[in-house]
Amino acid sequence: MRPPPVLVRRTGLNRIPTESVPRQPTKAMVFDISRYMIEDGPGIRTNVFFKGCPLRCVWCSNPFGLSPRQEVAYNHRKCTLCGACVGVCPENACSIEGDRVVTDRQRCTACGKCAGACLTHARVIVGTEYSPLEIVERVNEDATFYRRGGGGVTLSGGEVLMQADAALEVLRLARGLMLHTAIETSAHAQWERLELLLPYCDIVFVDLKHVDSERHRCLTGWSNELILENIRRLVDYSASHASPVVVLRLPVIPGLNDDESTMSETARFIASLRTAIAVNILPYHNLGITKYEMVGLESTIDGDLDADAAGLQRYCDHIRALAANAVCSIGGGEIDYDRLPKSSKA
Ligand code: SF4
Ligand code: SF4
Repeated sequence: MRPPPVLVRRTGLNRIPTESVPRQPTKAMVFDISRYMIEDGPGIRTNVFFKGCPLRCVWCSNPFGLSPRQEVAYNHRKCTLCGACVGVCPENACSIEGDRVVTDRQRCTACGKCAGACLTHARVIVGTEYSPLEIVERVNEDATFYRRGGGGVTLSGGEVLMQADAALEVLRLARGLMLHTAIETSAHAQWERLELLLPYCDIVFVDLKHVDSERHRCLTGWSNELILENIRRLVDYSASHASPVVVLRLPVIPGLNDDESTMSETARFIASLRTAIAVNILPYHNLGITKYEMVGLESTIDGDLDADAAGLQRYCDHIRALAANAVCSIGGGEIDYDRLPKSSKA
């Protein structure tokens, strides 16, 4: 058994707002649009990553998605120390210290002048405002690839429900083009925000990060009652409307949420849901770790957290044994969408 990971205090998080930033409802703040994805829905997909998340999961692998605002990212490995960014910054927020450029993030307004001056792209602005139509036009460029295998668009984040109005418009336009639609959500939002999107979703991936409310609060910053309630309502909605497909995702973080009692309690929660449900056990990967320092944060986790195959299988077996209504799979790319439970099949 591996020792539990060490959690270290993450600095700089208190400067990141966790509330939605008022913006034109017709605009979405997006930090990435990734093409040819295969893990978040059937077929080949384009994933649109909405910026801003109310949760602070200690294992978050996408720190670019935390802040709802634009921000400057700096990669010191690409930096030649030419000083151009220092010279153009109107706020005096850049300075060279030792072998890298330091950004005073209290002064930085994310104006982007330094990124424009940086020839090596060591500095970039993270976050772009798009209209829903611009997003769907980008997505639709790959329509030919979606047709084979039922691909389409997945709205992800960050937390897409922080920008529910813009997401609704993206989904509505995508539906108009007959594209398959999915969202990924933590369900940490008012039910009405989630409900708004459901008529336009073919699949909803919803996370359960920890079934115990106090542990959930320690690991994400928030208790989980709202999330558990929203998962129940989502499953009920899916059953009564025969859509969307609900896939409950269980991110497995070794030492943090895969002990015997957590697995059993999670299985009991699943068994208490009204219908059969797809359960997708998701291995954690440390891939986003270098992005923390790029936006002036420190990673919370110090240690190897990659889940091993045996541990994932044990979790899967546990769920199967205690929750007869669960149709389990391991890994985002391993869901057999043709064999999902009938009651939650679109
Ligand atoms: S402009 Fe780019 S390469 Fe030059 S010092 Fe600034 S970050 Fe480094
Ligand atoms: S984004 Fe603008 S304010 Fe921020 S460091 Fe760059 S030039 Fe300065």
